[in-house]
Amino acid sequence: PTPLGPTPKLVIDLERMQQLPQDKAGPLARYVATIQSQRGDYNGRVLSIRQEDLRSLAVIYDRSPADLTEELINWGVLDPEARRAVDAF
Ligand code: C2E
Ligand code: C2E
Ligand code: C2E
Repeated sequence: PTPLGPTPKLVIDLERMQQLPQDKAGPLARYVATIQSQRGDYNGRVLSIRQEDLRSLAVIYDRSPADLTEELINWGVLDPEARRAVDAF
């Protein structure tokens, strides 16, 4: 049943990310920079990432994907809609 529509994309708010303290956002910022470099996608205000990348980030942050998603929503880098993307795991 999908009354809310298809699984939303995981879209990182890059401006918000850059405002966060290094100790929090550092690993995320490095991961995002790697993806930007692989794609040659440097000028966006946002970056759509793979579901799989959220799993990798959760390992990096030593959290569950659901916990990390809540944190990223709290930081304002992910939209609350992203919760549904993680429910799909
Ligand atoms: P790849 O995974 O072999 O993908 C080759 C190309 O297929 C990508 O070139 C892109 O044009 C297209 N592609 C693959 N998956 C998707 C997708 O889900 N959506 C869209 N719109 N296109 C897709 P691109 O973008 O130049 O990326 C080159 C390589 O960089 C990729 O090779 C992959 O190894 C890596 N990469 C790029 N973006 C990501 C990412 O978000 N996460 C991860 N884990 N790797 C990425
Ligand atoms: P959308 O996915 O809702 O993205 C809306 C806008 O957010 C995009 O407008 C773009 O300005 C920005 N955006 C989202 N993800 C990224 C990202 O990873 N990097 C960068 N640099 N910007 C991003 P845009 O480019 O005019 O695209 C409009 C719509 O066209 C997108 O809406 C999507 O529905 C479709 N689209 C564009 N590129 C792709 C693609 O590679 N794959 C797929 N499946 N759809 C795409
Ligand atoms: P999208 O381009 O709208 O793709 C949505 C989903 O379709 C992807 O979710 C993936 O499951 C599938 N898909 C699309 N293109 C390919 C492909 O070439 N190969 C494979 N194996 N699957 C594909 P996913 O992986 O969670 O990615 C979410 C969004 O992240 C993508 O939305 C796209 O905006 C971005 N993205 C992911 N990987 C790449 C990439 O390699 N290059 C670029 N430019 N964007 C990517």
